[in-house]
Amino acid sequence: MGPLLQYSDFLFPMDLKKLIREVPDFPKPGINFFDITTLLKDKDGFGRIIDDFEAYYRDRRVDVVLGIEARGFIFAPTVAYALGTGFVPVRKPKKLPAAVEFMEYELEYGTDRLEIHRDAIRAGQHVLIVDDVLATGGTAAAVAKLVEKLGGTVSGLGFVIELDFLAGRRKLDGYDVHSLIHY
Ligand code: AMP
Repeated sequence: MGPLLQYSDFLFPMDLKKLIREVPDFPKPGINFFDITTLLKDKDGFGRIIDDFEAYYRDRRVDVVLGIEARGFIFAPTVAYALGTGFVPVRKPKKLPAAVEFMEYELEYGTDRLEIHRDAIRAGQHVLIVDDVLATGGTAAAVAKLVEKLGGTVSGLGFVIELDFLAGRRKLDGYDVHSLIHY
């Protein structure tokens, strides 16, 4: 069970969970999919998510915000704009045109790979990683390693939703992990 009161409960008493649609057995049987499109189309809901990120990271050092394909591309650039920084995409293989660095990580069956442009982050920059859902943490841990491979420092990892029962946070030990909505 998560904490009784979240940081966002003080800031925004609105029940953001009501705006998130749960779709059972998508994309395959047994997966309960958290659909954020219903939150995105709500002007108050979307705004509150971005405002909350902005309030949390405003006083921390963030030089650039990194988003993970595909749903991270909705939140990360918006947070970057709110914080007054640039945005860097991490993409699936063979999408980025210039020289890339990559990280492979384990999935339930097989492995997956994420790529970033080698010149996307300069050594010494502080990087905030933003994604929609923290599930098992495999993706986020791989992206944190990718940032460090390029000489960057991870200033934090921010998620709209964290699935506490999957304990993804354990794979992110030592990092500042901030999630707005917990299940
Ligand atoms: P993981 O590596 O297990 O933490 O998975 C993270 C990625 O998978 C995130 O980028 C999510 O977009 C997506 N994801 C995993 N589980 C779910 C879920 N139950 N509902 C929605 N998205 C999910």
